[in-house]
Amino acid sequence: MKAWEKNIRSVIPYVPGEQPQQSEIIKLNTNENPYPPAPGVVEALRSMDVDLLRRYPDPSAHDLVKAIAEYHGLQTDQVFVGVGSDDVLAMAFLTCFNSGKPILFPDITYSFYDVWANLFRIPYDKQPLDEDFLIRSKDYQKENGGIIFPNPNAPTGIAKPLDEIEEIVSQNQNVIVIIDEAYIDFGGESALPLLAKYDHLLIARTFSKSRSLAGMRIGYLLGNPELIGYIHNCKYSFNSYTMNQTAIDLGIEAIRDDAYFLACTQKIIETREWAKEQFRSLGFEFLDSKANFLFVTHPNHSAEDIFPALKKEGIFVRHFKNPKRIRNYLRISIGTRDEMETLFAFFKRFIS
Ligand code: PMP
Repeated sequence: MKAWEKNIRSVIPYVPGEQPQQSEIIKLNTNENPYPPAPGVVEALRSMDVDLLRRYPDPSAHDLVKAIAEYHGLQTDQVFVGVGSDDVLAMAFLTCFNSGKPILFPDITYSFYDVWANLFRIPYDKQPLDEDFLIRSKDYQKENGGIIFPNPNAPTGIAKPLDEIEEIVSQNQNVIVIIDEAYIDFGGESALPLLAKYDHLLIARTFSKSRSLAGMRIGYLLGNPELIGYIHNCKYSFNSYTMNQTAIDLGIEAIRDDAYFLACTQKIIETREWAKEQFRSLGFEFLDSKANFLFVTHPNHSAEDIFPALKKEGIFVRHFKNPKRIRNYLRISIGTRDEMETLFAFFKRFIS
């Protein structure tokens, strides 16, 4: 090792899902929405005043914050926006997890959590999911420096009922508890009603899945004004202008069109439930997902064989090699009905 290398912050980064650039593939590997963004988003993009791009955007992204606050029936000082939920979660880790005690999260979960913990030198202690891949509430009763988990969890898709979430939140009032609700719009129960009761609760949301705007990068946190204020202070010590003008304008249109949002999420939920029947009839086993993806395994065909065979057909899904317990599973995002029909036509041939 060179002398200067000793002073380098060396990290093992998060590995995002593949983003193949060919257009003719069926992309079911990163939980994107198969439907286009709301019509108002398309219109706002078309009529954008390009001259505005000479200027810096509003650093507080106030109009977007206001639209999000109105949508949830909250005050604007309860909302923190950022460049996807990855950005707002990183800021929350940096701001909230500073006790020196280990933070807790599941051993099978969003694989960015341990990357941020390592990056910010936050100790952590992963809690194993039970034999049914469920988060065990009792594992979150020990002393800790904070708690984070997704609801529904990823990549299992399993949702935790609100009473169990409240149990964890109410038993950990000396630390910040973050519920990552990236997939909540596809059927889980949100922790939003708990916000009025608990000032140490943060909820993370994203426009990437249910609002078809993964490419625009918009995410947000909801919490009490004091806590949100601390997170703002960290953000303004890092980069004032995280939200670009286009993201602000398009985000407002996306959150205003509730009818379109509900129609899209409903279609995805229906396709997911239909896909469960198809997987079942082909002999697959899967967890009871309330997200826009299914986590599936087949008793007679290994995930390591299915994954490249699908890819050869131009169908991209996600395979996690670690931890070992999920090595034989594939995470398959819910596409359009047509895309899923193509997937099942392939599986029928493959399995027979
Ligand atoms: N949380 C979870 C659980 C996720 O699966 C993802 C998607 N990779 C994110 C957060 C981040 O999504 P985004 O940054 O696109 O909002």
